[in-house]
Amino acid sequence: MLEPAYQADVVIVGAGVAGLSAAHRLTSAGVRTAVLEAAPCPGGRMSTEKIDGFRLDRIGQLLSTSYPELRLTPGLDALALRPFAPGVLLHSDGRRQRAGAFAKPRSARGALHAVRALASAPRAASVRGIPGQTTLPRVRASAPLGTAVDQARLGAALARLAIAPVERLLARPELPAAQALAERGVPARTIDGFLRPLLAALLCDPELTTSSRCADLALRAFASGRLCVPEGGAEALPELLARTLPPGTVHTGVRVTSVATTSVTTAEHGEIPCRAVLLATDARTAAELLPGLRVPDFHPVTVVHHTTDEPPTTGASLMLDADRGGPVAHTAVMSQVDPSRAPAGRALVSSTVLGTPPSDIDTAVRMHLSRLYGTSTARWETLAVHHTPEAVPAMRPPHDLRRPVRLLAGLYVCGDHRDTSTTQGALHSAHRAAAAILADLGAAGSLHRAEPLRAAA
Ligand SMILES: Cc1cc2nc3c(=O)[nH]c(=O)nc-3n(C[C@H](O)[C@H](O)[C@H](O)COP(=O)(O)OP(=O)(O)OC[C@H]3O[C@@H](n4cnc5c(N)ncnc54)[C@H](O)[C@@H]3O)c2cc1C
Repeated sequence: MLEPAYQADVVIVGAGVAGLSAAHRLTSAGVRTAVLEAAPCPGGRMSTEKIDGFRLDRIGQLLSTSYPELRLTPGLDALALRPFAPGVLLHSDGRRQRAGAFAKPRSARGALHAVRALASAPRAASVRGIPGQTTLPRVRASAPLGTAVDQARLGAALARLAIAPVERLLARPELPAAQALAERGVPARTIDGFLRPLLAALLCDPELTTSSRCADLALRAFASGRLCVPEGGAEALPELLARTLPPGTVHTGVRVTSVATTSVTTAEHGEIPCRAVLLATDARTAAELLPGLRVPDFHPVTVVHHTTDEPPTTGASLMLDADRGGPVAHTAVMSQVDPSRAPAGRALVSSTVLGTPPSDIDTAVRMHLSRLYGTSTARWETLAVHHTPEAVPAMRPPHDLRRPVRLLAGLYVCGDHRDTSTTQGALHSAHRAAAAILADLGAAGSLHRAEPLRAAA
């Protein structure tokens, strides 16, 4: 006899943010839902390790306050986001300079005003006094962002991007991001000094092989919002989703070994019948359970956490290295961004290494951090080194941003590999999958009509 707890109309495989948010949409519509999770706790890749009062994310998490699904997903109303200081801090040639920190437009009209004001800036000696803009200092052309004129142009481009309709960005020709940047007439110093390190951090892709459309969306999210992290660690987001589901919806320690349109088989409880199955695992497991699905390449990511009792003086800034003078792509004093991540009197510095890490990662990262923060790191203590070889699915062109989520009536798939490889993409794919399930469940009698899987891979 099947335990009553496992009786459900829809079984969701995987309790990452995609599976949990789909569960919210289904249970709110009155659909009996069970989420089966192989790991001992929900969260998937958005996990946080707790050591001695520190909260250490596995992921080099950069969310944007402008991610629409953070607002639209039921269950996330109480999510607290801790923003970084506006823009980013660029390190180059031993100096640090803030960039991309223009006032975010509150309306399309405000943004147009900002664009017009900035567009006229090249004739001015500096952009001081332009309404609504952060005052930018006069800088030498050798600084990461070039002259004040270059900075004004960049500000104008970002303000335009912030209000550009998504459809317009998706209609642009699709190229590898690095090639697209070079072909758009952007000054080389703006690309190398700002766009390249920023996009590498946002896309977890140091070589910028990602589709230019995905890169445009990432820059748009940066321009229209603030970079931020969930208060209390990345796991706060899935934890909140799990906690606000009806009690007994999520079952941890249950590994699904096969799926069909009317049941799943688990290692622990045998076959569980249902009316529909939503596969919400990572891309590789999804393809193992449904061999028609494609397995993308992945970007490896390593996150290194250090502590010190003398916090560097960069405040809550996210720092990028425009010179690429070491393995660290971005770093921040996370305890300044989110004080709940470190015990009193200790600073937590979290740094992200993209691609294959060097074999002597701790030494290489320490040396690099010493240059970036301008202080000795010899006495910093290493708290954790988290390496995830298959962290982020690669989004090389041509990249289908809206990969089908309905494979067959009764069989659905979601997760970051069906959308953009971000938290926003995972949540949005779940949104689409839940809508498809609800539509099918609502259309009586049509649930189990077979359709070819091939078309959905
Ligand atoms: C190092 C790193 C850095 C990142 N940086 C960023 C960033 O800066 N910004 C950003 O937006 N995103 C970032 N991401 C990506 C983001 O974390 C993911 O897009 C998102 O967490 C994916 O959620 P998901 O629910 O699709 O998949 P997952 O979180 O992978 O969830 C899938 C779940 O399925 C479970 N599962 C697998 N197999 C089975 C099975 N057989 N039976 C039952 N359960 C199973 C897994 O245990 C897991 O809990 C990063 C990820 C990593 C790893």
